[in-house]
Amino acid sequence: MQDPSGMMMEVQHYSTKDGPGIRTTAFLVGCNLRCLWCANPESMLSGEKVMHHGNLCRRCGACVAAAAPTGSVTLRADGIRIDRGACTNLDDLVDVCNYDAYERKGETMLASELARRLLRDEAFWFTSGGGVTFSGGECLLQPDFVAATSRILKDHGARVALDTAGLWDIERVDEALDLADLVLYDIKAFDSGIHRACTGAGNERILSNAQALAQREMPMIVRLVVVPGMNDQPDDLRKRIDFVASLGGCVRQVDILKYHRLGVGKYRDLGMDYPLPDTKEPTDEDVAWALDYCRGLGLKSTVGG
Ligand code: SF4
Repeated sequence: MQDPSGMMMEVQHYSTKDGPGIRTTAFLVGCNLRCLWCANPESMLSGEKVMHHGNLCRRCGACVAAAAPTGSVTLRADGIRIDRGACTNLDDLVDVCNYDAYERKGETMLASELARRLLRDEAFWFTSGGGVTFSGGECLLQPDFVAATSRILKDHGARVALDTAGLWDIERVDEALDLADLVLYDIKAFDSGIHRACTGAGNERILSNAQALAQREMPMIVRLVVVPGMNDQPDDLRKRIDFVASLGGCVRQVDILKYHRLGVGKYRDLGMDYPLPDTKEPTDEDVAWALDYCRGLGLKSTVGG
């Protein structure tokens, strides 16, 4: 049996937000969208990367000394400053720092190894109606890795969900879809121009892939993120909901997801600028009408963040 390798970000245990029951979520590296509100920027980029957690820094200066040949790491009044463009040994600083202020993110592993790690949680899945969710980034950019891991999990009786934004060739991901019990499907705008402005890509294929999933009667939870000033135009959100309703009974639930700012610190730790510095989190009242609209169309719906 083939045992392909994949690029993993992390495994999150005891998740209750990535599908039904208690779940173990495997975050894979790499994404083909660039959502301006992304809360997982470390998963957006491909390959390994190093985060610097300023709150763990004790200002011992060891990393400054280790990077001295380039002068790319400096200790200032407000903490460590890293010139990532000039730093040639950033990866080495993970081992130089005794206080875990540097963290290497991203790891290549075999499907069998990932399955072994995930299966440590299997007792929780079976008592809670949970399972494993593959997420990212875009997990279906690594379809063979997801399919091979899923096959092992299914042999153990686990239920598998895919968290995806839908921008893929369906022929490439067919096996991974066949092995999945549920798809968590993000639709970020109905108008393709709005979608492109928010994510860097149009949504024609995303909408057609949603219809293709409906045709194969794939159970779906559709997630509609609402970001003030980006994709919260009532007319477009109403069309998004109408489109979801048109997918029929395969849609088990619609989650209205309010924009949140929990990812801001990660951008800082990766040396990236946060793209939406002034955007406010919407309230439940701001999205209440959308919830009512969903329910009026007979869609089981929730509001979350
Ligand atoms: S080695 Fe770690 S603790 Fe010391 S200055 Fe650098 S980041 Fe801070």
